[in-house]
Amino acid sequence: MANRTSTIVHDVTESRRYEVASALHIALLEMEGTHSIKELLQMTLDEAERMTESSIGFFHFVAEDQIGLSLEAWSTNTITKMCNAVVEGQHDALDKAGVWADAAREKRAIIHNDYASLKDRKGMPKGHAEITREVVVPVLRGEKVVAIIGVGNKCRNYDESDIKWLGFLADIAWDIVAKKNAEEKQTILQAQKYVIENMAMHDSLTALPNRRLLSDRIGQAIAQCRRSSVMAAIILFDLDKFKPVNDTFGHGIGDVLLQQVAIRALEALRRSGDTLARLGGDEFVVLLPQITAISNAVKVAENILHALSRSFEIESHTINISCSIGIAIYPLHGEDELTLIRHADDAMYKSKSDGRSCITVFASDSAGVTEGI
Ligand code: GH3
Ligand code: MG
Repeated sequence: MANRTSTIVHDVTESRRYEVASALHIALLEMEGTHSIKELLQMTLDEAERMTESSIGFFHFVAEDQIGLSLEAWSTNTITKMCNAVVEGQHDALDKAGVWADAAREKRAIIHNDYASLKDRKGMPKGHAEITREVVVPVLRGEKVVAIIGVGNKCRNYDESDIKWLGFLADIAWDIVAKKNAEEKQTILQAQKYVIENMAMHDSLTALPNRRLLSDRIGQAIAQCRRSSVMAAIILFDLDKFKPVNDTFGHGIGDVLLQQVAIRALEALRRSGDTLARLGGDEFVVLLPQITAISNAVKVAENILHALSRSFEIESHTINISCSIGIAIYPLHGEDELTLIRHADDAMYKSKSDGRSCITVFASDSAGVTEGI
């Protein structure tokens, strides 16, 4: 009779543990998107503690090389009441870790029911909770240990049932956090890739598209113009007498002026599809990908000239600057990027030689001379 009663009690306990484990599984899945890995593991440890009547709990990841060990989470009770020794994220080498890491070294669950009698405990850091008993279970994936979960300080001895349920909870938690970990790594990699690609396509001082991105956009604009028989314009402008600004106020103020010129020139553009790029130095290019008349481009160039004609106030200095502008039109003045840029540059130099602060449209006559506006 006594045996039967204890079997029933045991069955009830087992089925209750199964319910708790299932509920934890559902909760972890629900919270996966909104909670950190540490929080999910802490929740698992809190449940593992309750299930095994323990008062301390820890979860470590074991590195791919099977040497590195990183503490990922403590149970709430451990943090708040038991231990102030270890900081999360601490990294250890498996061969130097205490007896609690035998589960990883030996790839099997370990029970220490008389912790004090262990000869080689390899010590505990100062402030670590006193351990009386512990059970540690490895999480195995293939041949490798990927994590270990441990609980400690039950009032009675730990047994096989504790190992079974601890392993069950750790397995559930591992699958969820490993997936989350992989997704987070993927997101970080994508973000890094985006930043790198973005940096390679933009000027670091003004954040404007650089020559490379401009080149892509000109290529696209030319292809589009060929299909729809519209024109595109390259408006190239170079600041007049910018060197003296550097010489008088310093390179730093020169940099800020370049940034403010970029902002004013952007404001002078009319359509969202227009591109302003910095070629380098004090030289900028505007691409108007679709125009119906040369006068459309001249109007934008006049806007830029006008936008820069107002004084710049930088660190209590008043700075006046102008620019010289050259315009080349696809397909009238060139049918490829290099020719168009070269002809816009020729026209810009004509503006410089005509006294600066003016606009020149390239003229494709036999002498290759340009027309002033
Ligand atoms: P011009 O009227 O003929 O255009 O003469 P300029 O003084 O504007 O000089 P130029 O256009 O020939 O050369 C541009 C100068 O801009 C050269 C360099 O000293 C300066 N510069 C180039 N890149 C930067 C930069 O990133 N920051 C700053 N502050 N100055 C730059
Ligand atoms: Mg210049």
